[in-house]
Amino acid sequence: MLERKLSEVIRTNKSYLNALEENGITNVRELLLNFPWRYSDESEFVNVIDLQVNQQATVQGTISELFTKNTGTGKLMIKAKFSDDTGSIEVVWFNQNYLRQILKNGMKIVLTGKLKWSGSKGSFMSPKYEVPGAKAQLIHTGRLVPVYHESQRITSKWLREKIQPLLYLTQFFEDPLPSQILEKHNLMPLAEALRQVHFPESDDLLQSARHRLGFEELFMLQLKALYRKTMYQIESEGNHKIIDISPEVINEFMAVLPFKFTDAQQKSFDEICSDLTKGQPMSRLLEGDVGSGKTAVAAAALFLAVKSGYQAVIMVPTEILAKQHYKTIFKYLKDFGLNIQMLIGSLSRSVKEEVILGMKTGVVNIVVGTHAIIQENVGFKNLGIAVIDEQHRFGVNQRAVLKKFNSPHLLAMTATPIPRTLALTLYGDQDLSIIDKLPPGRQTIVTRSVPASKRQDAYSWIESEIAKGRQSFVVCPLIEESETLEVKSATAEFERLSEHIFPNLKLGLLHGKMKQVDKDDIMLRFASKELDILVATTVIEVGIDVPNATIMLIEAADRFGLAQLHQLRGRVGRGEHQSYCFLFPESSSESSRARMKAMTSHSDGFKLAEIDLELRGPGEVYGIRQSGIPDLKMASLSNHELLKLARDEAELLLKDDPYLAKYETLAYRANMSEMAVDY
Ligand code: ADP
Ligand code: MG
Repeated sequence: MLERKLSEVIRTNKSYLNALEENGITNVRELLLNFPWRYSDESEFVNVIDLQVNQQATVQGTISELFTKNTGTGKLMIKAKFSDDTGSIEVVWFNQNYLRQILKNGMKIVLTGKLKWSGSKGSFMSPKYEVPGAKAQLIHTGRLVPVYHESQRITSKWLREKIQPLLYLTQFFEDPLPSQILEKHNLMPLAEALRQVHFPESDDLLQSARHRLGFEELFMLQLKALYRKTMYQIESEGNHKIIDISPEVINEFMAVLPFKFTDAQQKSFDEICSDLTKGQPMSRLLEGDVGSGKTAVAAAALFLAVKSGYQAVIMVPTEILAKQHYKTIFKYLKDFGLNIQMLIGSLSRSVKEEVILGMKTGVVNIVVGTHAIIQENVGFKNLGIAVIDEQHRFGVNQRAVLKKFNSPHLLAMTATPIPRTLALTLYGDQDLSIIDKLPPGRQTIVTRSVPASKRQDAYSWIESEIAKGRQSFVVCPLIEESETLEVKSATAEFERLSEHIFPNLKLGLLHGKMKQVDKDDIMLRFASKELDILVATTVIEVGIDVPNATIMLIEAADRFGLAQLHQLRGRVGRGEHQSYCFLFPESSSESSRARMKAMTSHSDGFKLAEIDLELRGPGEVYGIRQSGIPDLKMASLSNHELLKLARDEAELLLKDDPYLAKYETLAYRANMSEMAVDY
């Protein structure tokens, strides 16, 4: 039934069917799953005598004295008298020719509209009308009226008329939620929820319906993610790397650490330790702002693995970062006499081969590297833990990585602060640790939004800071559609600044189309203070560490998301000197101003991520397609409670029945890769 083509069940013409098809609606199922996005509350009827001027109201009564005429300006006017028990008013419609066929004297009718007052009399101007059907059921007025996303052809009115007669087919939807969950949480059965969501009988029932559908959406997402995780854990059985986390070993590391973990670092580290002894491979995402101390925590985990006789690897998306991490890891672990190597594409062949040989024979304890690590010919003797930094940038299916290396523990890290709910939705098959506090003593970066009229002043100020020995980044506009255009504009900006603004300073240019060696060369020259200003595209976003650079100037800052701006800002403020971030917005629109204001008033990345999510929605912020953010119809990603409920229930179910053997439909859907809600 639900698969029936709409052309077979509704009477309409081809152009409507085509318009529906454009929105992905071709059969009954799809039509019934096309939910209203809001409701117009017209459920309150008033008496004619109580009508207020200019206030929307719904009245129920009879029409009489129908009268049609052409106005002087060529419009068709239909006039009538509308009466209920309390009084009468005049009703007027313009240019609604077809009403002549519908309206009859003495007809019972419901009207929704506004009373207008002109001269000495009030009239109801072009109200919505509905003639109650046989069962006196109203669908367009006099109730909570569903409002759908409309296209040129397909109006809400049209959809209401087509959907309402098909509602009885909701009984053919198979409810995927197990009955014990429905009962436990007092959730509305699916068919009922679908009916209520289209034509709610009351606000309470509507809320129950939405709650149920939202729960289901999140539950399916969580179930899918956790099912994947369970399967992975089952596959890796017998392969488990047991890691010693006894206090003596941990203290050995802590003794050489030049600082004490912050509470947030300690908590994350404890969570990691507990994973390492669970008898299953860890699958954890460590989230923390730039500089929050993730690498230090990762180093501790690497150390534990190596102490238990395993090898460890840390993978990063770029060579620059690999070099930086190599240095950092080396610094933390240098006292233990470990063999720590780097594996990146630009090494000479013989060096690479030697490192790879060492990895295979087990001589190498720790490797820091790029994609080079997952090349065909690379392998480990006994990999215990893999750390992947900025996993979303890495663009690698981590499960493939895990399989290739025989199910090591996996720790993914990201400096993109993703609010917890969203992270659980996006990376539901990973557990989550968050470092939400920076180590003590960090400076706040002074951030200003600079209007065009102050541009020159900003340049002069930068010049004076450089005269004092500081350095500056200039980030060029983000051009989403085209890297070529982006490179062009960065090059032009570099030339403009070199020739006209800072002719006496030394500038460098960095962009994504440059060869790796040239990029590295420019970075090194900037890091060694040979250059004063680095003009760059967003390639500098990830992990560059130049403590002497104290100024970050961002062109067309309003083209960037807050998370990105925050990441860019995190490139400064890494040394002893006070640092600054100048945002040059391109427009002064309200949304641009709101975002600039968020940047100037908040320094916490998680806070900014939440604001960004509110201002722009998850699709804009993280890019629906790239990030795999599900296009939720019902549930809100900020509904923490519902998400927790859904995740807990999914966990319980899988604990009891890991293969979902008892729940065929659920198993089927948990195996599917795409959207959660498809019945
Ligand atoms: P992330 O990887 O999150 O960007 P890092 O681990 O690289 O952060 O740490 C950033 C800087 O802060 C490093 O210079 C590191 O030595 C320092 N650091 C890390 N943890 C602490 C801490 N608990 N106390 C003081 N300094 C710390
Ligand atoms: Mg880092």
